[in-house]
Amino acid sequence: MSSTATSEEPVLRKILHFDSAPEVYTADACVMTCFDARFDAAIRKLLKRRGIGVFDHVKIPGSAKALGAPDCEGDRDFAMRMVQTSIRLHKPARFVLIGHNDCGAYPGKPPQVVAADLRQAAAFLRAAVPSIPVETYFADFDGIYEIA
Ligand SMILES: [Zn+2]
Repeated sequence: MSSTATSEEPVLRKILHFDSAPEVYTADACVMTCFDARFDAAIRKLLKRRGIGVFDHVKIPGSAKALGAPDCEGDRDFAMRMVQTSIRLHKPARFVLIGHNDCGAYPGKPPQVVAADLRQAAAFLRAAVPSIPVETYFADFDGIYEIA
């Protein structure tokens, strides 16, 4: 047997010292994006400009496709549990849903298809949580677009 599983207590060995604030926060937003890192800088800039400094970041490949056009219902349940946990713990003031161009979840699809799913996701969220406003955006290689 070459299994490394053991019933012994795990040992925690400190490898970095860094002081993190222990206070529980109230989130300016719960932000849902794809995990595609190409748009991280643009999204950071957008959020800062929108007054969003502290936020819960739900990163799912395909972003809000899980809510708006899920491949299976389990995806939507999983995404909604993350959203509900954000609400319970950090009471976000708004939801921000951001899709992007050239997303692996939308091979060969034009921005309008991604935008339509984001709109569907927003409608789903508004119905599920009417008290929290929802904003939707599309990140492209030349900037970020509001979805009207
Ligand atoms: Zn993506």
